[in-house]
Amino acid sequence: MNPVMVRLRSILVMIVAIVASVFLICSNPAEAARSAKPYVYTPEQLEQIQRYTGDIEELRDRMLEIPTLIQQQRWIDVKTFIHGPLGELRVKMARLARSLEPKMQKTAQAAAKEVFEHLILIDEAADARNTTKAFRNYNEALKDLDAFFDLIPA
Ligand code: ZN
Repeated sequence: MNPVMVRLRSILVMIVAIVASVFLICSNPAEAARSAKPYVYTPEQLEQIQRYTGDIEELRDRMLEIPTLIQQQRWIDVKTFIHGPLGELRVKMARLARSLEPKMQKTAQAAAKEVFEHLILIDEAADARNTTKAFRNYNEALKDLDAFFDLIPA
């Protein structure tokens, strides 16, 4: 091989190596996320998150009243409860989702939507006087609410 070809070949090898390593980095988002710096909340942000979390926890505790209402087939009370106190839950969860770090917001919004969908289904179950459907969605709502809480910084 003439010297020019040898140089060209080594340059080509180098380019291939660079492309390969770039591809490796890009194709491993989990690795990239791990090596990324953790998001740091300001004290103000944390305070706000804490306040919203407290409100939502309070509403979660009040949700424990629902099974008794379902058990006793007090459907009007179930509906009043979902539209009243739990109506606030949607607003508060949406607000909290927006105060989280950017990359968490979509997941938190989706979790909040899940909770709310189950509350709508409890409302439907109350209309249909369907105890099984009401209980099932109550349990699902609590599960999804816990998933939402998992996203909140300690
Ligand atoms: Zn769900």
